[in-house]
Amino acid sequence: MRELFTLRPFLRPHRSTMLLVLLSILATTGAGLLAPWLIRSLVALLSTESTQAETLRGLIGLAALLLVTYGARSVGQFFTTHLAHVVAWNVCHDMRTALYHQLQRFSPGYYTQRQSGEIVSRVIKDTDNIEPLVADVVYDFVVSALLAIGIIVIFFTLDRGLMLWALFPLPFALIGIWWIGRRIMPAFDAEGERTGELSALVQDNVAGMREIQIFGRERHESHRVHLLSRLLAREQIYARKLDAALYPVVESATGLSIVLVVWFGGQRVLAGQLALENLVAFVLYLTAFYQPLWSLVGVNEAFQRARTSLGRISEVLRTEPEVLDPTDGLNPARVAGQIRFERVAFAYQSDIAVLHAISFTAEPGQTVALVGPTGAGKSTVVGLVARFYDPQRGRVLIDGHDAREIQLDALRRNISVVLQDVFLFNGSVRENIRFSKPEASDAEIEAAARAANAHDFIVALPQGYGTLVGERGVKLSGGQKQRLSIARALLKDAPILILDEATSAVDAATEHAIQEALTRLRQGRTCIVIAHRLSTIRSADQILVLEGGQIVERGTHQEIVAGRGLYQRLYERQYDVHA
Ligand code: ADP
Repeated sequence: MRELFTLRPFLRPHRSTMLLVLLSILATTGAGLLAPWLIRSLVALLSTESTQAETLRGLIGLAALLLVTYGARSVGQFFTTHLAHVVAWNVCHDMRTALYHQLQRFSPGYYTQRQSGEIVSRVIKDTDNIEPLVADVVYDFVVSALLAIGIIVIFFTLDRGLMLWALFPLPFALIGIWWIGRRIMPAFDAEGERTGELSALVQDNVAGMREIQIFGRERHESHRVHLLSRLLAREQIYARKLDAALYPVVESATGLSIVLVVWFGGQRVLAGQLALENLVAFVLYLTAFYQPLWSLVGVNEAFQRARTSLGRISEVLRTEPEVLDPTDGLNPARVAGQIRFERVAFAYQSDIAVLHAISFTAEPGQTVALVGPTGAGKSTVVGLVARFYDPQRGRVLIDGHDAREIQLDALRRNISVVLQDVFLFNGSVRENIRFSKPEASDAEIEAAARAANAHDFIVALPQGYGTLVGERGVKLSGGQKQRLSIARALLKDAPILILDEATSAVDAATEHAIQEALTRLRQGRTCIVIAHRLSTIRSADQILVLEGGQIVERGTHQEIVAGRGLYQRLYERQYDVHA
């Protein structure tokens, strides 16, 4: 039930519409209570002795009233349904955008720990599941409660003894509903979880279809999907079985009530203790009375689904981003670009330290090259500069200010990142370059592309700068993507550059083009580079040799190549200097 409180802030803006819904519910319910009363009057009219003209007048009056009642009811129902859905879909919309906004606050760590399919399903599917809760469930409860109270009051005024017989099966029905309902909740939870697992698996396999086919894993993967889907189907069937078991409970309670009322009421009519029209009214109201239980059963599934989804949504909304944007943080337009690590220690998981007491300073315009074996912590160091993570101990300083005191957008405005695996959005080449500077003119984009040695291959594409790339567009080679990424960084023109040099092999001409572009990009910027190229390392102002999260050697190439340490070994192995 705690999950329901997640809804509150989302309902608040729609208070006035919800009030209108409530008014039309009152009108509809009122009309619903009036209709059987009119039938009762009809029976009374027809069973009393009066002149034909009087009876006719009464009939006309009753027919007119019935017409008005049903008219009011239908109009009321239209407004109730329509307005309730207006509120509900708007709540969904607000939730989707709130979720997405929240997702953008999470650092990369959040995304490496989760499957993207699962995250997407929360934004799209779970929010959709909330709609019936807001549109139907809440109102059904209000209508049901009002109807039940209204009918009990009517029963009370008509005949208290008969009322007790009419209500006698109710507690049993409620106990039955409660008993089944308790089992339904976990069943729906399990179903929701399994659906998430299945969609994550399918999403993963669709992304890796090439590998599945190359390694001939089709049968194995089919089997995995089959098993999970079968499990899901079993859980869906079980949940529906429990759901279906609610029907006999309500049906037999209704039936039993009617039998009791007909039996005891009939005797009282025969004994002259109860007017016939009142017995008729009892039976009519009784079917209306158990109606709320029906809707309780009907909305149960929607309610359970929504409850599970709300839980998943509120989990995302309640998660605090690991990297927090400081309130009233510093907001430098352009930093000079000094980067300083002061005894920085970091761990992804609390017990496994990845960096131990890293200290170094990169003066504005300098290049610091990080070298060392895989897993040494090089990517982690550059991730800390961009504040993808925050250190557990020590500080990262930009121009002498703790990075945590600088507004995130100001910090990131001052940093360009060129990574090995470049992500291109679905869109044109031009749009992808412009991503780093939305206000850039076409001329600026072309200038950046030229400086990145990308212009020539871009104009050779089918539609030049307008060519669609990304998942749904032309596939570019690794070297081409990297040059687009360099063009992006050049266009952004940030004073700090984070660079992860490619290890993937490209042909000599491409290599030369990339080298040249990178040299241009590094010009006049503070650059922290995960270096693989000898030329980069040689020209670096400072080389940090990392091993096991520690700086084991540092200095310029000249200073440390002569030693017999790790750098020397890496250097000889990687560049085969004796060859
Ligand atoms: P390098 O870039 O030098 O290859 P990394 O900085 O990527 O090294 O990794 C340093 C260590 O941190 C490795 O042991 C790696 O397994 C671990 N690591 C990297 N990323 C994560 C992560 N997101 N979660 C947990 N551990 C990680």
